[in-house]
Amino acid sequence: MRMSKMYMPTLKEIPSEAEIVSHQLLLRAGMIRQLVSGVYSYLPLGYRVIRKVEQIVREEMDKSGSQELLMSAIQPKELWEATGRWDDFGPEMWKLTDRNNREFCLGPTHEEYFTDLIKNEVKSYKQLPLNLYQIQTKYRDEKRPRFGMMRSREFIMKDAYSFDTDIQKMTEAYDIMWDAYDRIFKRLNLKFRVVQGDTGAMGGRLSHEFMAMSDAGEGRIVYCDTCDYAATDEKAAVVYENINEGEMLELEKIHTPGATTIDDLEELFNMDKSNFAKAIVYNHNKLPIVVIIPGDRELNETKLFNYLGIAEHDIEMADEEMILNISGANKGFTGPIGLKKGTRLIVDSRIRKMRNLVVGGNETDYHIKNANYGRDFEGEVVEDLLLVREGDKCPKCNDSLIMDRGIEVGNIFQLGTKYSDGIGAKFLDENGKEQPFYMGSYGIGITRSVAAIIEQYHDDKGIVWPLNTAPYHVIITVINDKNQEQMELGEKLYNQLTEAGVEVLLDDRKERAGVKFNDRDLIGIPIRVTVGKKASESIVEYSLRSSEEKIECNEAGVYDLVKSEFQKAKLNII
Ligand code: ATP
Ligand code: MG
Repeated sequence: MRMSKMYMPTLKEIPSEAEIVSHQLLLRAGMIRQLVSGVYSYLPLGYRVIRKVEQIVREEMDKSGSQELLMSAIQPKELWEATGRWDDFGPEMWKLTDRNNREFCLGPTHEEYFTDLIKNEVKSYKQLPLNLYQIQTKYRDEKRPRFGMMRSREFIMKDAYSFDTDIQKMTEAYDIMWDAYDRIFKRLNLKFRVVQGDTGAMGGRLSHEFMAMSDAGEGRIVYCDTCDYAATDEKAAVVYENINEGEMLELEKIHTPGATTIDDLEELFNMDKSNFAKAIVYNHNKLPIVVIIPGDRELNETKLFNYLGIAEHDIEMADEEMILNISGANKGFTGPIGLKKGTRLIVDSRIRKMRNLVVGGNETDYHIKNANYGRDFEGEVVEDLLLVREGDKCPKCNDSLIMDRGIEVGNIFQLGTKYSDGIGAKFLDENGKEQPFYMGSYGIGITRSVAAIIEQYHDDKGIVWPLNTAPYHVIITVINDKNQEQMELGEKLYNQLTEAGVEVLLDDRKERAGVKFNDRDLIGIPIRVTVGKKASESIVEYSLRSSEEKIECNEAGVYDLVKSEFQKAKLNII
């Protein structure tokens, strides 16, 4: 491609709306443009990268035995009603109505649709196992679209669905996908970790998330260096050992004016936070729910919502009025003793074993000392409602957990029969008996993966593409476009490499050399050939985007240098 003809609207300034590096660089390198919040156009350079990522995903999916097809983005309401997700999915779902008032959604995912397809076509165990995938555009009206392609409202996903006869076979399908994902993310050159994920919203039994490690990631994970335990913070089990088997003391009412937070109480009582119990009050469809956890810990809302069997969008924090109504006190003084009848009280199991806690008094400006579960209050006990934190004990081997951040680029789910039951998709087993399909679903964020690669491969000048996902492999910069020798040599190398199957950009623009150098750093083409004054001697400068080193080489030597980079990256070159 000749850059004089290319549509590549680069920007000098960092766009103010872009908070993270990948978003900034995608905009600055002229790879994407925003239409409205969370909706992007993929411009020529950006789209080339997307297609390369898609191709790597496609090759490994095909290798795993999965078959590609393409389904519509438009899905009828009835499919989603069959599994209850028309309502459960909540405001993230884009809904629309046709001219006859029939309701549809723009697919946020395709479990129902694939299950329905199979229901009508696959009748016998002899047709199983089956694994189908597509690379398709998804729509989610995200609450906080941000970070460019990382969390958008329209994005490209690879989604795959497996259908099997039983749990054992479903597990095998899951392992095959795990291996395929492992190969895919390695080929994408991502530094990643596989962690246990939460299955709540999908309703499955087991899931793992593939996290590309990056401080820009929205995902928090914990892992153990001694054993292989790794999980998202939503999923991670918390080992909490503040257990005190001492004697129960007499309840005592204490005047605590203005002390509405654990920090205030810590100071006032001069006691560690672990001596207090926190109350968090929610409003679930006008029903108050009070959750009690140890004062030195945070609540893990995912664990709470899973226990309640509800989605995040179905619940909110209680307002002052509701709090006053159930406790008779202002916010900050709610506790488990003496709540209004009918208030649902949910207690983290550790509270049961903690003696003589300080709790809210359910009276403004008062707390109660020496509260004990069983003697003074009771509630629904939930094994673990706590949010993990750095240094917690590993639930598997008791060593310390390490916390880190990552970008969820893919995930795999064992779904069991939730969707086949809902849709009524059955096959006949060996005994001629009807059985529901055992399913799995497997997603990869294609556009998010592009952003993840940039997060891991950039410097202060721009993107540093790995060779196999770069929009072009080589850039030939002609320093002086008015110099015939330079232009001719540039053209010659351009033709020679292009014929060898190398994707080459020829910077033949009427621009200053400085502009050309800045642009090539910004768009991050991995291999660079600079044609300057020594063109008359057939000598050019060769360098890599990822290194400071520059070498002079004869025109005839360029191909061999390029070839060795291709071989290192396991790419074909003629
Ligand atoms: P998240 O927790 O980040 O919202 P999710 O659990 O909702 O992700 P899935 O429904 O499992 O994601 O979708 C499969 C994959 O699609 C994700 O692993 C991610 O890579 C990608 N993805 C999900 N939501 C978005 C989005 N809004 N923008 C870009 N990619 C996304
Ligand atoms: Mg999501």
